Amino acid sequence: MTEARRLRNYVNGAWKESRTGRYESVVNPATKEIIAYVPISTKEDIEEAAGVAAQAFESWKNVPVPRRARILFNYQQLLTEHKDELARLITLENGKNLTEALGEVQRGIENVEFAAGAPSLMMGDSLASIATDVEAVNYRYPVGVVGGIAPFNFPMMVPCWMFPMAIALGNTFILKPSERTPLLTERLVELLTEAGLPKGVFNVVYGAHDVVNGILEHPEIKAISFVGSKPVGEYVYKKGSEHLKRVQALTGAKNHTIVLNDANLDETLTNIISAAFGSAGERCMACAVVTVEEGIADEFIRQLKERAQNIKIGNGLEDGVFLGPVIREDNLKRTHQYIEKGISEGATLVCDGRHPEADDGYFVGPTIFDHVTTDMTIWKDEIFAPVLSIIRVKNLKEAVEIANRSEFANGACLFTNNASAIRYFRENIDAGMLGINLGVPAPMAFFPFSGWKSSFYGTLHANGKDSVDFYTRKKVVTARYPKPSFE
Ligand code: NAD
Repeated sequence: MTEARRLRNYVNGAWKESRTGRYESVVNPATKEIIAYVPISTKEDIEEAAGVAAQAFESWKNVPVPRRARILFNYQQLLTEHKDELARLITLENGKNLTEALGEVQRGIENVEFAAGAPSLMMGDSLASIATDVEAVNYRYPVGVVGGIAPFNFPMMVPCWMFPMAIALGNTFILKPSERTPLLTERLVELLTEAGLPKGVFNVVYGAHDVVNGILEHPEIKAISFVGSKPVGEYVYKKGSEHLKRVQALTGAKNHTIVLNDANLDETLTNIISAAFGSAGERCMACAVVTVEEGIADEFIRQLKERAQNIKIGNGLEDGVFLGPVIREDNLKRTHQYIEKGISEGATLVCDGRHPEADDGYFVGPTIFDHVTTDMTIWKDEIFAPVLSIIRVKNLKEAVEIANRSEFANGACLFTNNASAIRYFRENIDAGMLGINLGVPAPMAFFPFSGWKSSFYGTLHANGKDSVDFYTRKKVVTARYPKPSFE
């Protein structure tokens, strides 16, 4: 049993009560137990944090890059030492099983490792001779205060896409975690402080709309990293741009997986079960639609159903549990509505997850629809739950055409052993992150998380070299050197 307490913001190196009178319950979705109360902070709270971060920037930007990187090395070590504790916190507030939570912690740590390479990453370039006796040097500088707005589904990994790199490059940072999963952030802060980060460099303001609007409007905040749903991302991108900030907004998804007749069925099923139902389908890289070639379709669906029915549902802290709850009651109800919509629009319900045998929490069992068509709501919308749609296709060309009709284009996967098919898929699919014979092709920290179409707004993605460009600005010095007198 965890004691439910009121969370506080973290500003200027200290935990500070919000000015708000509004608190929301933070609920363990596996038990419905209230585990904390999160402040829905005010615009004044974010203004104070922005002032503090702007002031801290004046000294932090001048700390030599290797010294900043050293703090990231310490942080990496501390996060690694506390891996189990961090993973348990993720399972407690998010519901994903402990193995998945450990995987998330590892992914977060990899971002810290990448950011610790700041001395190399931040190097500019130069040309010794651009004209007679003239040289040019391109230096990189931080942009200033960065605001980060995070979703509930990866309380550790997504913030780690943002702040380690931003601060390693000399920016200061304000994080607004999801109000539904705010607990892990406390430990991220405490360990970062223990790693030696000076006060004011990293700040946390909990809340919802008012804090987001405060971040979007505040003149001291120069860049915004957003990860969340499409409607909110669109709003953040437009409003942030209106206030002349650089914005990257990573948004929703509806990822298609294509299974060809020659695919290794056993491995394909293992991957698809994990990609569609892992983390209760609450992943922006989740497999939401399978388009399967007719020759293999019946057998594929028969075995998929059998495996789905054997999935263990329950509290992710318990041994052997694969499928945890969705995050809140609203999400559960919304998922049921989508399942009812799928039935009323004519899809065939192969596996119904509406009444799982599980305890008290917000559980939805694996749900599979066959004979889905592209005019159905369950094909179009991001459901963000363990609901999988199947479309039978004649060939790869038809499968790619179907996937390309989606407004989203985050990830796409292909299961086959045919090299020509792989090349065709790579060249013709509209998606920024592709998987060949694997189910969740989330790129590692040193590659960009590169959604297309309505899955991303902006130019520079999170992670990889894109993140270095996003969190820095350049200064090009062109210098003429007079002829030396000794020549
Ligand atoms: P969300 O959009 O509801 O919330 C994201 C953040 O925006 C939260 O911090 C929330 O407090 C804030 N917010 C919510 N409504 C707001 C509003 N009206 N005005 C201002 N701020 C608001 O997203 P979520 O439910 O927390 O996360 C799930 C979504 O995130 C899914 O759509 C998923 O695909 C997406 N996601 C995308 C990626 C990616 O890389 N593309 C990664 C993870 C999650």
